[in-house]
This record gives sequence, structure tokens and C-alpha cells, in this order.
Amino acid sequence: MTTETLNTETETRANFITHIIDEDLASGKHNNVYTRFPPEPNGYLHIGHAKSICLNFGIAQEYNGKCNLRFDDTNPVKEDVEYVDSIKQDVEWLGFKWEGEPRYASDYFDQLYGYAIELINKGLAYVDELSPEEMREYRGTLTEAGKNSPYRDRSVEENLALFEKMKNGEFAEGKACLRAKIDMASPFIVMRDPVLYRVKFASHHQTGDKWCIYPMYDFTHCISDAIERITHSICTLEFQDNRRLYDWVLENISIERPLPHQYEFSRLNLEGTLTSKRKLLKLVEDKIVDGWNDPRMPTISGLRRRGYTPASLREFCRRIGVTKQDNVVEYSALEACIREDLNENAPRAMAVINPVKVVIENFGEKEMLTAPNHPNRPELGERQLPFTRELYIDEADFREEANKQYKRLVLGKEVRLRNAYVIKAERVEKDASGKITTIFCTYDPETLGKNPADGRKVKGVIHWVSAEENKPAEFRIYDRLFTVANPGAAEEITDVINPNSLVIKHGFVEPSLANAKAEQGYQFEREGYYCLDSKDGNANNLVFNLTVGLKESVAF
Ligand code: ATP
Ligand code: MG
Repeated sequence: MTTETLNTETETRANFITHIIDEDLASGKHNNVYTRFPPEPNGYLHIGHAKSICLNFGIAQEYNGKCNLRFDDTNPVKEDVEYVDSIKQDVEWLGFKWEGEPRYASDYFDQLYGYAIELINKGLAYVDELSPEEMREYRGTLTEAGKNSPYRDRSVEENLALFEKMKNGEFAEGKACLRAKIDMASPFIVMRDPVLYRVKFASHHQTGDKWCIYPMYDFTHCISDAIERITHSICTLEFQDNRRLYDWVLENISIERPLPHQYEFSRLNLEGTLTSKRKLLKLVEDKIVDGWNDPRMPTISGLRRRGYTPASLREFCRRIGVTKQDNVVEYSALEACIREDLNENAPRAMAVINPVKVVIENFGEKEMLTAPNHPNRPELGERQLPFTRELYIDEADFREEANKQYKRLVLGKEVRLRNAYVIKAERVEKDASGKITTIFCTYDPETLGKNPADGRKVKGVIHWVSAEENKPAEFRIYDRLFTVANPGAAEEITDVINPNSLVIKHGFVEPSLANAKAEQGYQFEREGYYCLDSKDGNANNLVFNLTVGLKESVAF
């Protein structure tokens, strides 16, 4: 990956789609740019959607155009308002504004119905009564042409009457559907008389029980684009073949011109993660994770709860770029974006995750020490740290014996406490099992903010928290959710779950963190970047999520 610093400007990098737009504007084919982001509200948005959001909204911003948020809600069975609400929230949180009110494909059900009638009237659509199994058989294969349904040559009148019956609920599900009359021998299977409408007796989250027939994606999407006067309809590569049907539908109905055009780019695949709402839903349903916004989830809401910022996700999308090549992006590329952002912007603080007690035997009354919130950004201010006779340091920062590589506290040797004094370990006390319970130290009062006067060299610096004035805290230390780089390929997802993807520790943080706000990132010095958990964390229950480590972690 590049080493450029985090750019918090929204900026779309030139790509093959912006080149097409430049040409369309230059040639006068279009004189404005109108895009849309069209999620199906059947789950929470994930990092792959962030790529599409940044592309569609980013282009609109770049070209002074517009971008709609449109819910592609043609399958009531899998959809829910909970998802509608979460999607709106995620798009806004990422920093984008849609044009006007959110749109719904279901807003157009009446118009879609009218266009279906138009196709029937033109002899371009018919009601089929083959069973779903028969339809599959008749469809043919990639190497074999399909064959015509025996219902294909019904008269217009008969089709109109039957379609009306479908709409009136007189056909059971699977007993009749409306199909486009195109070409059963087309090399493109999507063109082999695709289904336009099916019967579904399901309540819809927007239209209630008004309809018992619902239009299919391919019929709905292109017409919705045209109704909204979209100019560039951008989607992922799996819809490449469907573009033929997109164009066929629009060319055969009387809808305002110029028509929108579909362009496809490659979807984001992120190493070690699932980017399929269906598979993510399974993790939620099976309670493998703590809901859609579990901090281990690649959802936008999960990343947010984990401590990712909108700027870091936008920057990630900018760096990965937009192409037609299928590829898998390394997880470290995502982590680099948040690490750079937090390194630059997160206040520093001290937290001891595996505490062991230190007693400074020659220390008297409590002192308030001052520490900068950021080592090279004085404008971020300072904070007060109570320094007391009893402190906590991390277990890993003390050894009874160690070689020179170990630059922390060793029995009989000195170390600096961050933002405070140099201390020397004099002796330890252990419990019956041999575990160290207290490290007795002395401190050198002449070493606050300066080196020892007699030229003693103290190389190591460790962090600490007062044992007398602190806040107890829970630390949720997250690791990859899966043990493999491509969990999507696993036969059984439970086989590839990392059993250590969440480790919970209890320790202490400095008192200034009593006022930590949810999702605000901190660098816990020498530990990593953390934020207060937005679900379980509050002033009385400090729960911090590990956002990302200080250094790049090992890949798979
Ligand atoms: P999923 O498989 O997760 O359900 P989807 O494509 O069915 O994804 P939609 O809600 O239909 O989800 O997606 C809305 C938009 O986001 C579409 O234009 C889709 O192409 C795009 N999108 C979905 N996943 C990705 C991805 N991994 N990378 C880039 N764009 C994506
Ligand atoms: Mg979809």
C-alpha cells in the first residue's frame, strides 16, 4: 500500500467511470451527473457497500451532481424497516447526503405495473403457468438453448386478463408469473424470457398488503433509474449480463429519454472477512457475534463501534480505487487507514490492562502531574495525572531478571514512568503460588521531566495508572473473527471461527477517561487504539474496544 498520509478530504480518484462521465459531459450526451446507491434493506451495510457509497456519492460531489439513496425493496420476505433505518444512519455517518428524501423502489409499484401492461400490450410479455421446476428445465444451460413455454403465445387479451388475476390474488404462489418475451435461445441466460413479476402473499414494509405480486430486480431497477433520471447507474460486475435486460426493458417502454446507462466495477473483497449480507445474517442469527454491530463484524456499524472513523473508511475506499479487476484487498490496508487517522488525531491516555501493584516506598503525598494529550499537537491540550504512592503497571513490564533487550522494569534496575519519575525496583512480594503481587520500588524525585543528574542512563519507559485514583475498566481485545483468509469458501462457518477473536481483560485507566465519549478513539500508550463501547460502555461501566494495534499485525 501507499505511505501517503490520511487524507480527510472527500476525493474520488480518477477511474474508468469518471473517464466515461468526462466523455459524456464533453460530448453533450449528458449535461449533469445523477447517481444512486440502491441497497436492498435485507441486512446491515458492510465495508463492500462503503466502496459503492463512496463511489456513487463521491462522483455526485465531484461533478456537482446528485445522488439518491434508493431502497431496492422488491422482496418483502427478507426485508425490514430495521434495515432501512440502519442503512440511512450508516450513509449519513459516512458523511454523505442523499438528494431529497430516500426513495423506495416500492414507490414505483404502480408505475411498474403500468409498464408491465405496456409490454403485454406490445406482445413483449406473457403470463406463464409452468411450475418453477419446469421453468428451470425449459431454461436450458450455458451450452444448450432453452425451449419455449407452451404458454408463450397467448393472446394479448388473455395475458392482460391473467395478469389481472395474478394481481387480484387469484393465483397461488408459484402457479403463475409474468415473463418478458425475448429469446429462449439467447446465449445470455438472463435474456431467456426472464420473469418480471411473481406472486407473493407477503406484507411489505412500505406498501403493506396492497400487492400480492412483486416485480423482479431486473425489471424494477432499470425503470427506477429512469424514473429518477439517473444518468450513470453503477453496480458490481455480477450484473454485467443483466445490462442486456436493463437496456431491453427501457428500450421497449415509453419512458422519458435519454435513458440511464449501467456500468459495472469489481466488488470489494477483503481478506479474512465475509462481504455477503446473507452470510453475515447467519453469524447474527446463530449468535456467533453480538449482533450486526459486533465490533468484529465488517459492517459499517460494527467498524464504527470498533472505533473506525468515517474519514478512515472513506480514505480506505479512495486508496483501493475502482476497476474491473477482481481482487482481494489485504486487511492490513484497512487497518493502516484507521491507525494513521488515530495516530494523528487520537488523544493519548494511560491504561493498565494486566495490572500488578507497585509501591513507591520513599514517596509521600499525592502529586498532580501534567501530561500532554498528544506528543506533537499542543493544541489538543493537557491533562492531570494523579501520582501516588501505590501505582499499577502492566505485568509484562516487570521481570525479576532480564537481558539488555528488555527495556522495562527489572529487579535492581531503573525505568521511567511515562510523564512521571524514574523508579527503581527494590524487591517483590509473591503469593503462595509464586505470583508476584507487589513490586516495591523507590523513586528519584529529581527526574520529573529530566534525566538523572549524575548521568545514569535510563532507556525504558513504561506506562502506569495510580492505584489510588483511577477508574476500573474492561478491555475487549479483538482479533480476526476467522482463522482463514477466505472464510466465504468454508463449508461450515463454525469451523473457521477464531476462538480467540475476543479476549476480555479487567484493569484500570487514568481518571481523565471517566468522561470518555462513545466511539471517541484514544491511544492507550504502548497498548493500542481503543474507544469506549457504544453499547455496553458508559461513565459507570468503562468498556473499551480495541480498535487496532499500534503496529501492523501478522496476516494469515
Ligand atoms: P450482499 O451480497 O452483501 O447482499 P448485495 O449486492 O446483494 O450485497 P445490495 O444491497 O444489493 O447488496 O447492494 C447495494 C449496492 O452495493 C449495489 O450496487 C452493490 O453492487 C453494491 N455492493 C454490494 N457489495 C459490494 C462489494 N463487496 N463491493 C462493492 N460494492 C458492493
Ligand atoms: Mg443484492
